[in-house]
Amino acid sequence: MGEVTIMKKRKKFAEEPNFTEKKSYRPEGVKETGLAFIGHEISEDGNVMNQFLHYDQLYTIRHGKNSKFFKGLLEGKILGTRCPKCGDIWVPVRTHCWNLNCNLEKTEWLEMPLTAKVHTWTIAGWSGRSSLKRLPIVLVYAVIGDSKVAIANELHDIEPWNVEFGMPLKIVFKPEGERIGAVTDFHFKPADGWKPSPWNKEKERIQKLVEPVYEWVKTLK
Ligand SMILES: [Zn+2]
Repeated sequence: MGEVTIMKKRKKFAEEPNFTEKKSYRPEGVKETGLAFIGHEISEDGNVMNQFLHYDQLYTIRHGKNSKFFKGLLEGKILGTRCPKCGDIWVPVRTHCWNLNCNLEKTEWLEMPLTAKVHTWTIAGWSGRSSLKRLPIVLVYAVIGDSKVAIANELHDIEPWNVEFGMPLKIVFKPEGERIGAVTDFHFKPADGWKPSPWNKEKERIQKLVEPVYEWVKTLK
């Protein structure tokens, strides 16, 4: 008779955490209807038909090991992660170090300063419906503190033609009651005391490009 080995069955997944704090921002009257055709319209001549598809699904974004970053936003803090071996820091966060020599070392959390610098940027002259009236929007990729990577967000309180590579920024959070734990809880502003460089040809070129956007936004009701 051969030897019988009883393998201990390994649990595949971690226990479900006990979620004790739950908030809902759902507007009143919105129900989980899922995907449903809720009506249609047909033109007078019978040649054209439109259908109304109600698309309202509830998604759960499980932040897992990155949860502290989003919880930090609720508290008006930017949390980053750092590799205890090589010292590299990341915002947006990484749970394991990217350096091959660190062998996927687990990172540790640290609170970042509310200061950053512009890595690169773009000026949005078009957007989704909710932000059309705020166009043109300056979107920057900014490096927060000593992070090795950049994070995208809006830069406010600046003329689009005055943005510069490497310019210093500060991070401004929405008031506590308006925060939802998303990156839109904060935006960038030029650092206190920062002054744009003198007028030049490039600024003139950008101004000419965004002027029609300003004019168009004025016509929006
Ligand atoms: Zn490392």
